[in-house]
Amino acid sequence: MSEDHCKIDTIAVHGKYPFDPVTGAISVPIYQSSTFRHPGLGLSTGFDYSRTINPTRSELEKTIALLEHGKYGLAFASGMGAISTLIKLYKPGDHLIVSEDLYGGTYRLFNEYYARYGITFSWVDTSNFALIEAALRPATKAIFIETPSNPMMKVTDIARCAELIHKNGGDLIVDNTFLSPYYQNPLDFGADIVIHSGTKYLAGHNDTLSGFLVHSRDDLEKDLRLSQNSEGATLSPFDSWLVIRGIKTLAVRMERHEKNAAAIAAWLRTQDRVEKVFYPGFADHPQYQLTKKQARGAGGMISFYLKKNADVPVLLKSLSLVLFAESLGGVESLITYPLAQTHTAIPEAMRLSAGVNDRLMRLSVGIEAADDIIADLDSAFKQCKKEND
Ligand code: PLP
Repeated sequence: MSEDHCKIDTIAVHGKYPFDPVTGAISVPIYQSSTFRHPGLGLSTGFDYSRTINPTRSELEKTIALLEHGKYGLAFASGMGAISTLIKLYKPGDHLIVSEDLYGGTYRLFNEYYARYGITFSWVDTSNFALIEAALRPATKAIFIETPSNPMMKVTDIARCAELIHKNGGDLIVDNTFLSPYYQNPLDFGADIVIHSGTKYLAGHNDTLSGFLVHSRDDLEKDLRLSQNSEGATLSPFDSWLVIRGIKTLAVRMERHEKNAAAIAAWLRTQDRVEKVFYPGFADHPQYQLTKKQARGAGGMISFYLKKNADVPVLLKSLSLVLFAESLGGVESLITYPLAQTHTAIPEAMRLSAGVNDRLMRLSVGIEAADDIIADLDSAFKQCKKEND
């Protein structure tokens, strides 16, 4: 049976090729070679130089393409490396509509670098379709969304965005980092390009950076490969292997992340130090029906407002199992304060309009026992009460 016809759980375990054809090794070999010998002039094994192509990275690129239902996958040294390569598809005069509620590093890259080269951006609450329609111009060449968004967990309609931008002759780009291909495949809903910070759920262990682009368009492939090779932000053979190993457990990890997140989100709602909890798995989340339509799960990310700003430092210093660190999607639970970490690059007015205030916390729920995570949060909230009431 070909891997292409298996379920996602199986593809994640076996990848594109389940063993090395030369030695039979079950674990993909790490081809730690920068260059490859040619059998003769004009002859090639298919590999020449590892910035351009490397066998370990190729296996990973084919696997991520399968997982995301795409034809092509490209691996980069980080999520930002992937986004930076992608943005070079556009030229001065082009306009992009971008989710206003997104990873701060993406905002920084677009607004502080690519705006200098004459690309313009409109920052929009893309969960409100009327606002996207209002921002559309003849020069709009792409809509770039994060769904669910980071950190407010708003959900954008992928199929409607695809239809709108295709009529305008542009592309729909979806950052699918938060749900991973296990829960959402944007290409199936008409997206042109999917992005991942592979650093998160795909690698899954808070131990390696990586980034991906996945798509099915022959017309884009040449441009993207040229840009990947020319810029050189490619993923190393060893890091490719780490991500391959991480992906093998994607299905079981995602299910546990989600089960834990659902339990913790429900518990947080009962806490008197918490004002509001944002989680797309709540039946009363404003885009719950849309989530059910375009995703197979709600994932492992939660954000919440504390009632008191003074609780922020106390909570962060009192947690011991949940680690105060900037990232998400790994087996360890991490708590982030977006205002001071992931979203510092975003100007205050835009940040506040997106909902990122000085009481917002973001929780990446790990795969520990949910009861232990709850006990840790509970004891930190008790400390907040002691110090601040
Ligand atoms: N996209 C999202 C949704 C992210 O959260 C991040 C990083 O936090 C990135 C992209 C950038 O990825 P990386 O940190 O791997 O460069």
